[in-house]
Amino acid sequence: MDEPHAVVVGGGIGGLSAALALHRRGWRVTVLERAPELREVGAGLTLMANSLRALDALGLSPALRSTVHAEAPGGVRDRRGRWLSRVDAAEMIRQLGTSALGIHRATLHRILREALPASSLHTGAEVEQVESETDHATVRYRGPDGPGTLDADLVVGADGLRSRLRAQLWPEIPAPVYAGSTTWRAAIAFPDPIPTAITWGPAAEFGMVPIGEGWLYWYGAITAPPGGHAPDELAAVRDHFGAWHEPIPALLAATPPGVVLRNDIHHLATPLPSYVRGRVALLGDAAHAMTPNLGQGAGQAIEDAVVLGAACSGGAEGLPAALAAYDEQRRPRTQAIARASLRAGRYGQQLRNPLALAVRAAALRLTPPRALLRSMTWSADWRPPRD
Ligand SMILES: Cc1cc2nc3c(=O)[nH]c(=O)nc-3n(C[C@H](O)[C@H](O)[C@H](O)COP(=O)(O)OP(=O)(O)OC[C@H]3O[C@@H](n4cnc5c(N)ncnc54)[C@H](O)[C@@H]3O)c2cc1C
Repeated sequence: MDEPHAVVVGGGIGGLSAALALHRRGWRVTVLERAPELREVGAGLTLMANSLRALDALGLSPALRSTVHAEAPGGVRDRRGRWLSRVDAAEMIRQLGTSALGIHRATLHRILREALPASSLHTGAEVEQVESETDHATVRYRGPDGPGTLDADLVVGADGLRSRLRAQLWPEIPAPVYAGSTTWRAAIAFPDPIPTAITWGPAAEFGMVPIGEGWLYWYGAITAPPGGHAPDELAAVRDHFGAWHEPIPALLAATPPGVVLRNDIHHLATPLPSYVRGRVALLGDAAHAMTPNLGQGAGQAIEDAVVLGAACSGGAEGLPAALAAYDEQRRPRTQAIARASLRAGRYGQQLRNPLALAVRAAALRLTPPRALLRSMTWSADWRPPRD
């Protein structure tokens, strides 16, 4: 039997995870990434138990645990710094089997990249069209040397929020919509030990996550009209958060100008009726772009990859049934998490009314920590499929 061939469109965290999952199952993989260089922009990520188990299943445990940092869980504060709720680290380990890890996106991307054969990775290659037939698919792309065509048994659409494959093969699905919030983020050198924590104010949230080796990731989110830009984004963050409790002013003071990223948050508001069309399977943000409020977007992309790899372990033989199984396992979970993430944003970062803020603070103080943790971590309670 010929070696089955998969073309993965997009070399982000989702695409590289999918390529690795299929490579480990005996597939020949070709990753086409339109950027001239394979790298991840952005600051940090929180990897919860589900993401860590998915990365374990890809064989990445040793590389990960030697590089990254177990979070010191903190909890939720108000903008004066009063704790509304504390996360009990021992209870988290009891409920989920592991604490969470903070990691720089670039580190995770590098670990994934290094686990793949270098010959499978192609940059400067923008996919323009995919045609799916009954028993194969054709990928048309524009590479550094001009147009090219690839034949594949399977095409994985991991081309992100603005997925061209989704627009082409699911034309009835509207484009992603603005979720109402804009976010600033940065990774900075900050060696002082601080807990992972979020702080809520009216229609605003600030979060901080240690990501190891003396580095820290912070983000600030506010409710705002889309498309806003400031000539100095760091100054804009200081305007919003500079008078909040320590260490927020200290983190902003330690942030060099020019490293702050600003993104409006968009999500796929219309859920896809299937993640599979013919020989094409969507994954990650292409399939279920969600708001970042549960910190699960990348985690769900990695889970998708592990499940897709397991479903396709029989090679190209029986692929329609394998892809149907992938869709059946992934769609309900990822779409439920996307809905929950949107709700978490409305109840968390986007809450503005003073009375609602007071009720939320009282509710958080009265909820037993164990129940609160369970409500926050249900999405992390996932295990890879057994072989
Ligand atoms: C502010 C913020 C904070 C977040 N925090 C977290 C967190 O703490 N934890 C977490 O798990 N998730 C988090 N996320 C979500 C996470 O970043 C995404 O869900 C994840 O990166 C999606 O990965 P992906 O590979 O699906 O898409 P992407 O990372 O968007 O990758 C898509 C790739 O496809 C390439 N591409 C696009 N079109 C083409 C084409 N036609 N041809 C070839 N290549 C193409 C792009 O260049 C890109 O490299 C956050 C998101 C935001 C915005």
